[in-house]
Amino acid sequence: MIRVRGRGPQVRVIAATAAATGVVLTGAACGQNTGPAEPGKLNVVASTDVWGAVAKAVAGDAAGVRSIYSSPDGDPHEFEATARDSATISGADVIVENGADYDAYMEKAQKNPDSPVIDAFDVYKKDDPGAPTGEGEVNEHFFYNLRVVRDVASDLADAMAEKDPPNRQTYRDNADAFATKIEALETELARIKAAHNGQKVAQTEPLAAYLLSEAGLVDATPTSFTDAVEAGNDPPASAVATTEGLIDKREVRALLYNTQATDPTTQRLLERSKSVGLPVVELTETLPEGVTDYVAWQTKQIDAISSAVSR
Ligand SMILES: [Zn+2]
Repeated sequence: MIRVRGRGPQVRVIAATAAATGVVLTGAACGQNTGPAEPGKLNVVASTDVWGAVAKAVAGDAAGVRSIYSSPDGDPHEFEATARDSATISGADVIVENGADYDAYMEKAQKNPDSPVIDAFDVYKKDDPGAPTGEGEVNEHFFYNLRVVRDVASDLADAMAEKDPPNRQTYRDNADAFATKIEALETELARIKAAHNGQKVAQTEPLAAYLLSEAGLVDATPTSFTDAVEAGNDPPASAVATTEGLIDKREVRALLYNTQATDPTTQRLLERSKSVGLPVVELTETLPEGVTDYVAWQTKQIDAISSAVSR
């Protein structure tokens, strides 16, 4: 799914939000490259800070991890690597990326042919060989698919051990500990499913689809609405009206709101939800300010979904 959202409207929305909330945004809120590699350590490079956090869980203190895109604003789909990013990627010992055109800047980049690349889309296909994988058929937000996340961590442990054999056991132990924490999140989703199976929610973008299906929750938003938002287009008027009706008549338990893919239409849904008292769950594509841990980030989001549908 290639997204071609224009930058203009999004920048305006972010600026308007900043003005309304009093939050100060730096002008250059783009991907940050977090300095030089840690000397003497295995050099792991991730496409976004979410995949970087998964790699960090495996690395512990034994390896260095840097992420190319780590802005809590904006949209990784639209990011283009700088020359400095390209140098960071080509110098990596191990690479982790999302794939499926989500982080095309990473897929396109020149890499060291001796450096293993862990690609979440490849892991997804391996996990579920029967799943449709064509453009427009697969939801590329694999960092919301807990099974894929756990298996990416395991594959990373193997790749990092291959490049850094003395720390083999550390990487394996860390990946196993991470898997245990992911299983706790899966248990929480199963608990939501036991209590709320089949209940409806709406979302502004198909970000949390994998989490929702594990939690037994049904996304009632017309796909013509979410597809248009994801592609950066205006949703058809009839789809907007249907979605607004879901909110106004409280036919859904919550609105899931991607804070990094907003436009005037999604903002109106947010305002509407607030005015009718519908719970809103804010979700992100990268780690929010001050959050560095994958499990902490996802626990908070799952807890928010859980309490929204329980209200
Ligand atoms: Zn997205």
